Parts: sequence; C-alpha cells; structure tokens
Amino acid sequence: MQIDRIETFVLQAPLSGGQRFYSSQAPFSVRNSLIVKITTSDGAIGWGESGVSMPVSHLATYIHEVLAPRLLGVEADQINPIWHDLYGFSRDFGRKGASVDALSGIDIALWDLRGKVLDSSVHALMGGAHRSSVRAYATGLYYHPEDLSDADGAVARIRDEAARFLDSGFSAIKGKVGLLSLENDIRRMTAVREVVGDGFLLMTDANHAYNRHTARRMGETLQDLDYYWFEEPVVPEDIAGCAQLRQQLSIAIAGGECEYSRWGMRDLLEAEAVDILQPDLSACGGLSEGRNILALATAWHTPVCCHVWGSGIAVAAALQLTAIIPPIPHTASPRAPENEPMFEFDRTHNPLRDDLVDGGFALEGDQLRIPQDPGLGVQIDESVLKSFCVSHRESSR
Ligand SMILES: [Mg+2]
Repeated sequence: MQIDRIETFVLQAPLSGGQRFYSSQAPFSVRNSLIVKITTSDGAIGWGESGVSMPVSHLATYIHEVLAPRLLGVEADQINPIWHDLYGFSRDFGRKGASVDALSGIDIALWDLRGKVLDSSVHALMGGAHRSSVRAYATGLYYHPEDLSDADGAVARIRDEAARFLDSGFSAIKGKVGLLSLENDIRRMTAVREVVGDGFLLMTDANHAYNRHTARRMGETLQDLDYYWFEEPVVPEDIAGCAQLRQQLSIAIAGGECEYSRWGMRDLLEAEAVDILQPDLSACGGLSEGRNILALATAWHTPVCCHVWGSGIAVAAALQLTAIIPPIPHTASPRAPENEPMFEFDRTHNPLRDDLVDGGFALEGDQLRIPQDPGLGVQIDESVLKSFCVSHRESSR
C-alpha cells in the first residue's frame, strides 16, 4: 500500500460585507485552507490540512517540490518513519514555519488514511478515548471594520455578539483584544462580562499584540473581571516575558499556537511560560507530533487545549487528538476547564469549516461530539472542495 499520489487544494472563501473582521493583528477578507489528499496504490485515501489560514499557496509548492519526491512509493502505514524522515531531512533549514506546516498536513492525511484502511478512528488507533464529547468554547468577539472608527459602536456590537453566543448554548466564550487602544480593550472586555454575568467562563486572546507592560496592565484588568485565561499576551519569541507575566498575574496564561514541534513546545514548558498549552495540529507537526506534545505537556503537568482555526479537516483532526488528552490531573470527577480540555470552536464565517465536511459539527448543549467513524471520522464533500478550490496540484508516480 504505497503512496501513489499527493494532491493539494488551495481553498479560498471570500468574505463580504458584515462577514469581514479583524483579529488583534490583521483584517480577514478571505478564509484560506491548504488541503492535502493522499492516495495509495490500492486506492485508499486520506485527507489532511497544512498551515493556519493566512497565505497557504507556498505550502503547496513545498509539498510538491520538497516533500513529494521523498513520499511517492513509500509504504503509507510507515507514519512514524515518514515523519522523522521529512523533519530530519529539513532540519538544517526548516525546524519551524512553512516546512513543519507542510509536514503537518501530510501526517494528518496519513493518519486519516490508516484509520480508514483499518476501519478505526484515529483516537482508537492511538490507544482509546478519555471522552466522547468535549466542552466547546465560542471563539468570536473579533473586531468589525466599523469598530476602528467607532469606539462606542464597538462596545454595542460586542455586547450583541456575546448575547448571541449565550442564546446559542455556549457556556464559554473567547474574544479578541489588542487591535485598538488599551482603554478600548478594557471597555470591550468589561462589556462582555456585564452581558454574560458573573461566573460565566470567559477567555481573551491578544494574538501577541502587547508589550510586557501593556500586557500586565491588561492582565490585571482581566483578572479583576474574572477572565479565565489570557492568550498570547506577548510575541512568541518573548518566552521570558510570558513567563514573567505568569508569575505576576493570577489569570492563566495560554499559548503555543505559533510554536512548532515538541522542541518548540519544550522551550515554553521549560521556561514555565504557559498554564495552558495550545498546539495547532496543522502547524505543529500533525497528529503524530500532537501526541508527542501531549506527552511532553503531561510531564510538566500542563493542560492542553488545541488551537483550531482551519477547515472542517483541521477541526476533525483536533477532535481526534482531544479525545486522547488525559485529565490533568486525574480525578474521580473530571470537569472542564479545571482538569478536562476544552475545544476551540471558531464562530466567524467560514464555509470551509462548516460545509467541507459532510454533516458539519453540531453543538449539543455546550458539547461537541468527537467523531467515531474511521480515520478523522468525517467525509469530505468533494463538490464543496472543488467549488472553493483556486489551485489544484498533483504529484504522482
Ligand atoms: Mg489565539
């Protein structure tokens, strides 16, 4: 069962009108995904996803020109040797960034393929699940384009959005800070707390938009407002600054979505820079490396909640890994977020997340069900894939 064909699909879903938004760093007028499809000599198929939104076309180039020559003709069930061959080969130039993004999609596709061949979900292949569903939190409360020139309107809009999340059954919400002034951020996050009430689980994410001092001031406000975690307060290179904030603040510090591989995550853990580690499987090295990072995190007694931002394939992969995250620590009655993982459920408009996978992902109360079907547990709707595809490339034997 050798790898016969590797295909990549650059998907683009333009956002129009009210669908456009800003994170703490960038405007989003389009959602992108780089989808990987691997086909074996006997027709088995696996799907993966590489990279985390933003530009993705370069990942296709890397996959076809650098990785494919090392993959075609190789036995598809050799997932571990393949991972180490691709990573080891690129060690001199690619320990972080695009090369590991590209490797991630290949690895996810190989796990999907293996599961489908063996009629087993990925989480079953990895040794069994701790849970069949996970508490989802809504990722939203982004900036609307009008917010940039209308601070009062921004507060009204974020109130409305928080109320909609409450109505739709979520029991936890994460919102953005860092794009505008600190004063504006404080007003927005205070408004959200007022809407959801005391005791409701809130998190915030700065996308590393602050320096250490501003992050400390924001963190002090957030902990006064009883926010649960403060994500990426400072730039990912400033591991010491992140560790310093963790010592200065009582709010939990979350991070890791911009880090790569077990070695990158080791640096965060050794520095005691985060309370919650957030690997993104489409970037950190795929499901194989996600499992390694999970083992590493347990050695530092650090909970893991995957960062999830991609298409339905990225969501499905993260749900498979989430199934095998052990409670940290083990207790007689595990509960999220104290010692059970939560799941990031992006609520911005993205048909690549909602329509690419047959059936999508439905919230049941505040829970997302972990797919039990073979592989990633989802079927790809290839008509949807084609409708959003702007570039298709193929490498074959
Ligand atoms: Mg984030």
